Amino acid sequence: MKRQKPRSLLGIEGMEPKDISALLKLAARMNPAKPSNILRGKVIVLLFYETSTRTRSSFELAAKTLGATTILITASASSIEKGESLIDTGYTVSSLGADAIVMRHPSSGAHWLLAEHLNIPIINAGDGMHEHPSQGLLDALTILQAKKSLKGLKVAIIGDLYHSRVARSNAHLLPKFGAKVVFCGPPDLCPDDMAKIADGLEVTHDLDKALTGADVVMSLRVQKERLAGRQLSIEEYIARYQITPEKLTLAKKDAILMHPGPIIRGMELTNDVADGMQSRILNQVQNGVKVRMAILQSLLASKN
Ligand code: ASP
Repeated sequence: MKRQKPRSLLGIEGMEPKDISALLKLAARMNPAKPSNILRGKVIVLLFYETSTRTRSSFELAAKTLGATTILITASASSIEKGESLIDTGYTVSSLGADAIVMRHPSSGAHWLLAEHLNIPIINAGDGMHEHPSQGLLDALTILQAKKSLKGLKVAIIGDLYHSRVARSNAHLLPKFGAKVVFCGPPDLCPDDMAKIADGLEVTHDLDKALTGADVVMSLRVQKERLAGRQLSIEEYIARYQITPEKLTLAKKDAILMHPGPIIRGMELTNDVADGMQSRILNQVQNGVKVRMAILQSLLASKN
C-alpha cells in the first residue's frame, strides 16, 4: 500500500473554507505569552532562500513557544551557495531528523516539488510571486478582530500586485468567505488579467474608485528586487497611488489599514497613515505569531 503523504501547508487556493476557519479559530485561542510543550522533541527547520524579518522570526518564536527545536538555514550561509539542489538540501535536512520544513523560496511552486519528494510536512513561507498562505491567514485574523465577519466586506489591495504573493493568497482566501477583493495599481504592477486569479476579483487602476467605501485598505510595497531592470517612475507612483490621510477618507470611516511589511514610508503610504489610528500593521505582526503557532500545532501535534 502506498504511504500517505503527511499534510502540508502549500497554498490557500486549494484549501477548504472549513480548514481555513479551523486554523483561524485555533489561532485566535493561541497565547504566545504562555509557552507549552505540545511540540516538545519536534525539530522544525526554517529553510530561507530569500530574506525575511517577520515571517522567519514569527515562525521561530511560534515553534519555540510550543516547545519545538528550530534550525535556521539561509541560502547565503549554507551549501545552497555551493550549488546544492533544493531536493538534495531537502533530503539532507530530513535525514538530520527534521519533523517539518518551513521554507521561503524565490521560485513559484518550489514547495509543491519538495513536498513530492519528502515525507514530512512542508510549510510555505512564500514561494516567489505565487502564495504566502500564513500571511493570508494572519491578514484574515486581523480583519476578523476588527470586523467580526468577512462576509460583504470590500477589501482594496493597493500597490505592486503583480509581484505580490500576499495579494494572491488574500485573493484566494477572502472571497471564500464572501468578501469582495479589489486590486489597484498602475497597469505595469497590476495588469488587467490578474482578475483571472480568483472568482469575483476586480482590477482597477483608479485609486479613488478602489478606496471608495472600502472596509479594509491593504497597502503593498513596490518589490524593486523583482522589477528585473524595468523602470518605474517613483514620482508618478507616489502622485497616483500613495495612500495619504486624504485618500484614506474615501474608505469607510471605520476602515482599517493593513500592510504585510516591510513598509517603505513615503512611498506606498505616508507616515501619518502608517502610524494612524486606522493602522493595524503591528496587530498583523502579533497575529503572525498566533497563526504560525496554530499552523505548526495542527500539522505536528500528535492527536492523542
Ligand atoms: N513580506 C512580504 C513577502 O515576503 C511582502 C513584501 O516583501 O513586500 O511577500
